[in-house]
Amino acid sequence: MGVPAAINQDPLAFLIFSTALGAVIGSFLNVVIYRLPRGESLAYPASHCPQCGHGLCAWDNIPLLSWLALAGRCRHCSAKISVRYPVVELLTAAVFALSALEFGPTIGALSACVLSAALIAVTFIDLDHLLILDRMTVGLAVAGIVLAAASGRLVGGIQGAALGAALFGGIYLLTRGKGMGLGDVKLAMAAGLFLGLAASIAAFLSAFVIGSLLAVPVLAAGSRGRRDALPFGPFLVLAILLVLFAPASIFGPFESYRNFIGGLTSR
Ligand SMILES: [Zn+2]
Repeated sequence: MGVPAAINQDPLAFLIFSTALGAVIGSFLNVVIYRLPRGESLAYPASHCPQCGHGLCAWDNIPLLSWLALAGRCRHCSAKISVRYPVVELLTAAVFALSALEFGPTIGALSACVLSAALIAVTFIDLDHLLILDRMTVGLAVAGIVLAAASGRLVGGIQGAALGAALFGGIYLLTRGKGMGLGDVKLAMAAGLFLGLAASIAAFLSAFVIGSLLAVPVLAAGSRGRRDALPFGPFLVLAILLVLFAPASIFGPFESYRNFIGGLTSR
């Protein structure tokens, strides 16, 4: 594995570009997370303060930096701006940076960016509304088919999606929807298109491990009865991100780092 040769041409510029792009996309995801479940248009009206309705000038709309510069308050009415906005921007910048480091300037990096950005939006909407929107999963599936076909991995993608359908669809049917929602099944299928069969197996198994590790203390604490379904989506997302980025960020940091630095110094 390792970083493709092309990144060696200017790995630092590519990394900086990807990270900045991630912050900008994260800013857009904030709009998606807020407006999509409410059925509002993503394009209109332009960004404004939810308290005083004052429009944001370009200067107040810079990802991360504006929130820091304004110390988390509206310039006009001083209403607090949720820390979630810069957190989503930071998370998206981080997964784009990881995509750049892991895959270099390839269609693999584009796939990783599309998948992880969608997962961030899905997670926050799920946490807010306990809902995984069809528009997110269907859109993600279409992107997954296109990107898998473009990189010659369509067969693996379909196998991953089929595994997701069998595994999570099976649980959905067996538990009559108590163990997991239909949105989780669709999310697993869409992610499977991106991951291919091997990574899907790893991600789905990890989701069960993470889910049981986190669910046991919650159930033991008695704050939720056994009848209330825990939202499974966030566990699945965590597992997918882990499998997507683990090779560079966990198992092979040294190799990636060495390739990256090697690319910098060989110029
Ligand atoms: Zn305001």
